Amino acid sequence: MIHRSNILTPIIAALALILAAPSFVLAKDKIPVVATFSILGDLVKQVGGEHIALTTLVGHDADAHMYKPTPADAATVSGAKVLFVNGLGFEGWLDRLSEASNFRGARVVATQGVKAIPFKEDDEHGEGGHGFEWAGVFDLSAGSYKWSFAKVDGKYADPAMKMVILESDGIEASEKRAVEYLEGTNSVTRDHNDQLVAQDKAYKLNFDASRDMTVFSVKINKAGKYAFFTEHMPFEFEADEHFFKDNSGKDVEPVEQEPDTGHHGHHHHGAYDPHAWQNPNNVVKYLRNIAAALVKADPANTATYNKNRDAYIVKLKALDAKIMAQMNSLGENQRTVVTSHDAFGYFAEHYGLKFVAPQGMSTESEASAKDVANLITQIRKQKISAVFVETITDNRLIEQISRETNAKIGGTLYSDALSRPKGPASTYLKMMDQNSSVIAKSLGS
Ligand SMILES: [Zn+2]
Repeated sequence: MIHRSNILTPIIAALALILAAPSFVLAKDKIPVVATFSILGDLVKQVGGEHIALTTLVGHDADAHMYKPTPADAATVSGAKVLFVNGLGFEGWLDRLSEASNFRGARVVATQGVKAIPFKEDDEHGEGGHGFEWAGVFDLSAGSYKWSFAKVDGKYADPAMKMVILESDGIEASEKRAVEYLEGTNSVTRDHNDQLVAQDKAYKLNFDASRDMTVFSVKINKAGKYAFFTEHMPFEFEADEHFFKDNSGKDVEPVEQEPDTGHHGHHHHGAYDPHAWQNPNNVVKYLRNIAAALVKADPANTATYNKNRDAYIVKLKALDAKIMAQMNSLGENQRTVVTSHDAFGYFAEHYGLKFVAPQGMSTESEASAKDVANLITQIRKQKISAVFVETITDNRLIEQISRETNAKIGGTLYSDALSRPKGPASTYLKMMDQNSSVIAKSLGS
């Protein structure tokens, strides 16, 4: 008896410990995962449920565009098994963080497979656009030059673009003509290896998807200054090499260009709008990517992850139908939403609205005086009754626009971050519901 008891005691003690502290045992089994920002964090939580230990880097009401990771973030990431990111250039700080943390887990891009909306800064303002994103003047000798467009990260920033070449002393001297040609309909199409000359027409340049680089030769018949106007930034198409070279392969630099900040002028975000979560259909893709990654990291709980995903998709579809009905109830002249930064392109496309913003797609960019003036004119002309503030942006500009146009502040929209837990947008579903209710109420009256 005594002997037997001695053998059993430690086993019973261990069993008692396990039974007494089930949460402790479960906590040990949770897989450590990190999500970059609050909206994505909520989606990961919905799918992962109790089987994950989730850390979200950029929390509620905070701006992921401008985020500066801390040493503690690096430590968190280094211990994670899966790192969930939005992708599409949203987290510009991610590579540095990933390197600093020596992260060895799986990095999962939640937008994988989403049909991304190309980034087109000037198109956002319709008639306010001026037809070209970049212009440069080159002092050229007669002869042959090469202009190249390269794939970056496996694809061209845009499938094609227009270009105008004019003999001209400066950008200003020929800007008006260039815009006329760029906006005109009789452009001339050119493909890989074709030749371009200065002419009173725009070229439409097609980029060859089967090649890593599409090259056009530029023939200059007479020495002098030539102005080139391009629909998109040529820097977006630079992989390893400068886009403009002479016949011997030497780089040719412009004597004048606009914007003169060059590489760092326009596009902090890369070629696509990153705010894909603003369309619930895209979020279905997010959920599938999240579930697949969790299944891979933790196959034992495959059934739960898939069940959580499917249950959430049902709720998501129901909410989508509700928002669609709300937006469809708005009249044709009630469908323009003015807000701080261009975060609602996917929402607009999906629900048939038009969003305009004085600030670009990243909160990093600044609104130009000309853009603000155009916007004020547009609000007055279209009799837009309300403008909206956002939680993550500096709203002074929107408040100023409200005063100058008499459009009321229609409410607060949640674009890139959830609200605090007790706020009205503490989850993705609540956020979407809140935004659409605020829009419908303010513009529908
Ligand atoms: Zn944003």
